[in-house]
Formats: sequence, structure tokens, C-alpha cells
Amino acid sequence: MFRSLRSAATAFVFILTLATVYALQAQSPAAPTNIPASGTIVLHAAHIFDVEHGTLVSPGEVLVRGNRIVEAGSSVAHPGGATVIDLGAATLMPGLIDVHVHLFLHLGAEDLQTVVESVPERTILAEIAAREDLMAGFTAERDMGTEGAGSADSAVRNAIDSGLIPGPRMSVSGNAISILGGHEDAIHFNPAEHISSNATYANNAGELVSVIRQQLKEGADFIKIYQTGADHFADGKFTTPYQYTEAELEAAVQETARVGKRVGVHCTGEPGALYAAQAGVASIDHADQLSPETMRIMREKQIYAVPTFAISEYFAAHADSPSVIEHERAMLAFHAAEFRKQLAAGVPMAVGSDVGPFPHGTQAREFELMVKYGMAAADVLRASLLNSARLLGRQDVIGQLKPGFYADVIAVPGDPLQDISVLQRVSFVMKNGIVYRK
Ligand SMILES: [Zn+2]
Repeated sequence: MFRSLRSAATAFVFILTLATVYALQAQSPAAPTNIPASGTIVLHAAHIFDVEHGTLVSPGEVLVRGNRIVEAGSSVAHPGGATVIDLGAATLMPGLIDVHVHLFLHLGAEDLQTVVESVPERTILAEIAAREDLMAGFTAERDMGTEGAGSADSAVRNAIDSGLIPGPRMSVSGNAISILGGHEDAIHFNPAEHISSNATYANNAGELVSVIRQQLKEGADFIKIYQTGADHFADGKFTTPYQYTEAELEAAVQETARVGKRVGVHCTGEPGALYAAQAGVASIDHADQLSPETMRIMREKQIYAVPTFAISEYFAAHADSPSVIEHERAMLAFHAAEFRKQLAAGVPMAVGSDVGPFPHGTQAREFELMVKYGMAAADVLRASLLNSARLLGRQDVIGQLKPGFYADVIAVPGDPLQDISVLQRVSFVMKNGIVYRK
């Protein structure tokens, strides 16, 4: 009895200390605006974007109670005591989703940052990146690999989910998986220096299953596999070696599906893309080159292509020699032409930027590029919100402003259907009923 009383007293002191820490955090500029998640809030603005129908409704209102949406439309109930937030001429819309990010990468040569920086240092930078992405309006993200930081992404996800740090709802993969001597295996360094791979090795189906079990144990929400590389592009011809056979990928997909999870692949071209589609992965990221048969399977199985144009544009603009700039531009033009074929073939799209090597919080550029390369703005928004939510397996709680969905709401200054670039100027961010930016 005495012992339990004493531990109750200890627990009380601990809670008091925690309360003090939270109170101090609430006063710092990094903390969210202090509106309790249990409160009732009415958001009012000139317009609200209806994702499903691809239309703008005027005016727009969202009723939020706690962390959920109660009602959304042109007008909603205004319960007594509700806090009304008037966002003026803005357009309300669901929080943005980016299905290809790297919180553990920042500006600069990715091979060197993973060599020079420690995992603790990279984890702190990842927390800052998560905050930058959230403030730019991204309320949910899929992190496609820590690139050598193991399962540190699970800790970042958990800290966000428990309210310790601000950030999007994260789906994380831990370290990505690759073959010996493959993509991300530090193949440009002197082998005698034994520079670590940025991915975890798996060289056959058995090793894939072992590595996947380890990563799931360490907290992965899904599995990321490198399926192609190194890429080669010359005279308009693109080639890339595959890393895993269809049978090997099938073993990976089956093992991941055993616990209700999915595989996403880095996959730039054929024949690796065909093997991935046949094996039933959830998404083919980059997708620079897809054969007619691969596109047919992707449409049939609803496997998403994630074009990641923003990273390609950034590399083309920031390469350090004219010949590399020319090469990157030619590759981007090739991918844009392939993208138009993919749209014509009905390949389902999700939106991911590959942010990390370019600055976190700027990745809404991806939406603009998908419009620029031939997709209607309403379709890009549907791909970004509806398809991306499906890819994350969260289509019943995020991606739309509907009763029962999480209160992840942003506001943009204008009509995204007329000018998709307004997504780069997000003026208001609410996630889980908490206002982070106003
Ligand atoms: Zn990536």
C-alpha cells in the first residue's frame, strides 16, 4: 500500500512536471495556437473546395469538434460557445498529402549527408523538416526511407502522434531495402573505404522476408524497396537494370500483406516496373518509363504511379555543370512525354515530390508540374487527396472535408482550379483540430 501511494505521488509530480513543460512549449513561437483540441470551432471563408466533384462552393464553412469534422459545406451549424475563425477571401480545403518525402534528407548531396551526419543529428533535422512540411499545408505524408538512419523515423512519427512535436501524420518505412552493389549502395565511393549503404541489404526472397520482418518489428508502416538503378539516359533512350525478379518481389509483397501492409518501390523503368506491377506493389514511384503492359496492369490493379517531377526539376536547375543540366532537362522532358502516355492509358496517379534533397515546405511545386505536364488541376487535386489517402490506407479519415474525417484543414488564397500555384501559399493550417498556422 505504502509503495503504491509513493508511486502515485511520484506519478503526480511527474505529471506536474510534464504540465510545466507543455505550458512552456505553448509560449514558444514554435508551439501551435493555443486552442484546445476538445473545443468547437467554426471555420468560415469565401470558398470551400469539394474534392470529389472538383468544384468550388461559396461561401465555405467547416464545423470542427475536438479532432474531427462535424459538418462541412456552404454553411454549417454555429453552436453556442464555438470559436469562429474567419479566413476572409480564402478557400478552405483538405490538408495536403505528399506520398513521397524524405524527412531525413535536407538540401545538399544526399550521399555525403548520410556519411557525415550522425543519426541523432539527422533525427533532429527530421523533426524540423516535419514542422516545415506541416506549416506548408501537408498534414499527411509517406516517408520513403530514412537513407541510412534505420528506424529513427518511427520515433519521429510517434513524437508527432503523441503531440510532442508538430508535423504531418506520418507513414514510415524505416530504411529502404536494396541489393548489394545496387541503388543507394555508395557505389561511387572507393570500395576499400566501406562506406555504408543508405539501404538495408536483401539479395534474395529469403533475405527480403527477414529484412521486412525486422523493419516491421522496428515500427515500419509500409515497406520501401529499390527496384531499379543505376539509370542510364542517352540519345533519348532510357535504360535501368532491375534489382529484384517478379518472384522475389512477390515474396516481399506477400510477407508485407500478411500483416495488412504494403510495398512501395523506387522504380524508374522497365523491365523492373513490369515485375513490380505483376508482383502487386502499391505504388511505382518515379515511373519515368512504363511499358504498355505495365500500364495495363497498373490500371487493372489500381497501382499508383508517383511521378516526383519536383525533384527532377530541382536537380535540373541546380546541377553543377552545363552538361549535367542539359542531361537532367532532357530526362525531365522524356518523363513528361511518358507521363502523358500514362495519363492516356488510365494509370492511376498519386502525388509525391521526393522532397528532402530540395527544401522542405516547398514541395507544393509538384502540383504545378503535374498540371504543366498535362493533367487537369481537378484531377491533380483528386490524385493528391483521394488517391494519396487510399495509398496510405486512410481514405476514410483524411483527404476530404466530410463528417467524421480528421479535422485536417488548410486555406489557400484563391481558386486552386484556376491557379494551382496557390497551394504554395497556404495561409492557414489545422491538423487534428489544432490550429498550427493562422
Ligand atoms: Zn525518394
